[in-house]
Amino acid sequence: MNALAPGAVMGILGGGQLGRMLSHAAARLGFDVHIFTDDEDSPAARVSARVTVGDYHDRTALTVFAQDVHVVTTEFENVPADTAQALRDAGAIVAPNPAALAIAQDRLLEKQFFNELGIATAPFEAVESQADLDAALAKIGAPAILKTRRLGYDGLGQVRIKSTDDARDAFARVGGKPAILEGFCTFEREVSIIAARGANKQVAFFPLCENEHKNGILARTIAPARVDESVAKAAQAHAAAVMDRLDYVGVLTIEFFLMAGGALVANEMAPRVHNSGHWTIEAALTSQFEQHIRAVAGWPLGPTDLICAAEMVNLIGEDANAWAALAADPNARVHFYGKRNVRAGRKMGHVTRLKPRD
Ligand code: AMP
Repeated sequence: MNALAPGAVMGILGGGQLGRMLSHAAARLGFDVHIFTDDEDSPAARVSARVTVGDYHDRTALTVFAQDVHVVTTEFENVPADTAQALRDAGAIVAPNPAALAIAQDRLLEKQFFNELGIATAPFEAVESQADLDAALAKIGAPAILKTRRLGYDGLGQVRIKSTDDARDAFARVGGKPAILEGFCTFEREVSIIAARGANKQVAFFPLCENEHKNGILARTIAPARVDESVAKAAQAHAAAVMDRLDYVGVLTIEFFLMAGGALVANEMAPRVHNSGHWTIEAALTSQFEQHIRAVAGWPLGPTDLICAAEMVNLIGEDANAWAALAADPNARVHFYGKRNVRAGRKMGHVTRLKPRD
């Protein structure tokens, strides 16, 4: 692919906060962004040059969109596979490629994919009925987590099973949908690697992130993670293997559990920029958003060096009401996503605090 010159139009599927921050980065590099979203009033559209509000299955709208843009990328992984295909049929370049989306959309395919590459995961079994669940639990043992294969995020579509008693109606509680049962990992901490691969196959890695979740939602990230260099190197090797196998172009994130003794267990991957990488806007030489835009535009990747250590805290639901205090805090770099209504569990913004290196 030839590198896109400033002035080219970048299409983004999805209108959330990731699209909004991608759009900011694209604008700085001179690209116009065209957002395709099914949300009438999306956070991304309000900072972008153009928007199409349409259904992700509307082939006519997708074809018109494809003809207006030079490349299409995604800001969330649950874009229907057909959508990416329709865009390709209409002649669009789609990056990352739809195969990466298909794997990341399905927890079973994703775990099988990791294992094929020699990347460890929690033990897992496919579950399509309550009888499957009972059999899987007998194999894996409690505690375990039942997760729907598709459309689960931020702890949604999940049931924790502490004992066989909890399992009794668990399949119904995830909606009777195809699922996987995963063994519970008693990890020391959670980390994520944010990596990128360019159109020229160049790879780059941001310093490893250390993540704290509350109720299945990311609450706080610190960078760099407090781990041995060997752990960071292992995470990089895993990300490189995933991206090479998928002939990937763009930013990709893998979340891991770090076990006592230093082993990494992959939990999931996101074929996109990630909440645990928001600190890169202020604290890395290139932000994850710029890196993704560079990759899909066919530009060389930017340097990923840390400028200084950082902490990122998500503003979830009512946290956003503290905006005035945050605005008065000289150490807080404040980001709001322009969401109209505060709702419990909704990511409204985030705050990054820079800390000098010790
Ligand atoms: P997920 O929806 O898979 O990203 O899970 C959200 C969070 O739930 C993870 O970041 C962990 O904190 C926790 N979690 C998910 N799966 C497991 C597991 N197999 N063992 C222990 N904790 C888990």
